[in-house]
Amino acid sequence: QAKDLGGGEHCSFEASLHALAEEQRQLEASLRNAIGNDELELLYQPVVDANFEKVVSFEALLRWNSKLHGVISPAKFIPMAEETRMILPIGKWVMEQACRKATQWPSHVMVNVNVAAAQLLEPDFADMVAATLDKANLAPHRLEIEVTESVFLSDAGVARAALEKVLNLGCSVALDDFGTGYSSLGYLRTLRFSTIKVDRLFVQGAAQGNRESLAIIRAVVAMSDSLGMTTTAEGVENADEAALIRSLGCTKIQGYYFGRPMQAIEASDLLRRETLRRA
Ligand code: C2E
Ligand code: MG
Ligand code: MG
Ligand code: MG
Repeated sequence: QAKDLGGGEHCSFEASLHALAEEQRQLEASLRNAIGNDELELLYQPVVDANFEKVVSFEALLRWNSKLHGVISPAKFIPMAEETRMILPIGKWVMEQACRKATQWPSHVMVNVNVAAAQLLEPDFADMVAATLDKANLAPHRLEIEVTESVFLSDAGVARAALEKVLNLGCSVALDDFGTGYSSLGYLRTLRFSTIKVDRLFVQGAAQGNRESLAIIRAVVAMSDSLGMTTTAEGVENADEAALIRSLGCTKIQGYYFGRPMQAIEASDLLRRETLRRA
């Protein structure tokens, strides 16, 4: 992005560093106003039952449509929101929107909400969830929160206690992107995770004939079966991957093959069509 200002290598390097810092500063300032400016939007991606291909849940995925900077991917702005702790008001907004939307769906359809470590480590996280469910009038069992293994990095005890409280409310908890982080099986022993989400990396690998990926999915399915948890395969993009995942015994499937993250109105349409088909 930074232009070579003609001052030689050294100068242009400094110039680009400066430009980068400036861009970062502007993005942060804009993100601070994103909720107020109505720039945030939740998309919903279907999660389907591996056998019946029925929608069992939608995962809420955040988008930032910045008036100043255009559409910015969560891979870019979520880490920024975490560093600046803006993820706290943003995460609360996400929870409220997602729970409210789910009340418009048939009662067998759940909603999955991603939660960042900084949110989980707030002392009132479980209270915020309880109040949000209450206000939206959504039954707790219809909410599954998703956390990655990284929530156990800074203060595992606090993270564990917060998840325990959320489980006691009657909500489910999924372990997202399983196998990509700093995996430790220790917390699987004491926390009643509902679901393990197998990262797309393994799905892709297994479909391409990678024996290690295949073995890891098999192991995760066997382990979650015997611990009474379910498995969701993430990032299933085509029929071959879907067939393979199904044969490996994953409980649920999510990916572009069944549906991309879509606007709330499209999600409702999808559910309506499904109800008609089954009537
Ligand atoms: P995630 O929770 O693991 O979400 C799955 C990501 O995979 C999403 O990316 C989704 O669009 C993408 N995906 C789904 N199916 C396919 C597929 O078949 N192929 C490929 N290539 N990708 C697929 P997205 O929406 O860009 O979100 C990225 C990450 O940002 C999420 O990963 C999650 O960690 C984070 N994120 C998104 N929304 C929120 C939020 O509201 N709060 C927090 N804390 N994090 C969020
Ligand atoms: Mg997720
Ligand atoms: Mg994931
Ligand atoms: Mg992911």
